[in-house]
Amino acid sequence: MEKLSLYIDFDGVILDTITPSYNDIKKLGKELTEEETCEFYKNYPWENIIIDDNIINNSIDSIKEVIASNKFNVSILTHVNSLKEAVIKIKYIRKYFKDVTIIPCPKQISKTKMIHTAGSILIDDYTKNLREWQKECGIGIKFSKVFKENDFPVITDIKQIINMF
Ligand SMILES: [Mg+2]
Repeated sequence: MEKLSLYIDFDGVILDTITPSYNDIKKLGKELTEEETCEFYKNYPWENIIIDDNIINNSIDSIKEVIASNKFNVSILTHVNSLKEAVIKIKYIRKYFKDVTIIPCPKQISKTKMIHTAGSILIDDYTKNLREWQKECGIGIKFSKVFKENDFPVITDIKQIINMF
């Protein structure tokens, strides 16, 4: 059987970078405009939060199981605000995976514009990304740290994908 293309989001799926970075925004004590938020993330010290402590629900081991199932061609597809952020994420992923494909996608560009979406699976915690994906004939799977109903099928552990296909 031909392997399915599986794209896995990074922030909020592999590592929880969202909680610590939001907390740092809160510490600023003011509402940020969209532009300020963009600048904040461009200059953010990602090396402080792209760490094992922020692994979500055993994600690294789960991805290893997904690869071992031999059902999928696995890639990591992650939005980045800067090249520095891309470098830190790539180095982190390479610690665990020697040859998984890593695709950093500029924040301003839809993930659907980076690759061939038709028939491909995307695991993402951001429903807007899944909607765009589906519109381009891809298969969207919602990741949630704890189970919550969604228009898309929901998983709380990446390895649950193995038995869905
Ligand atoms: Mg995400």
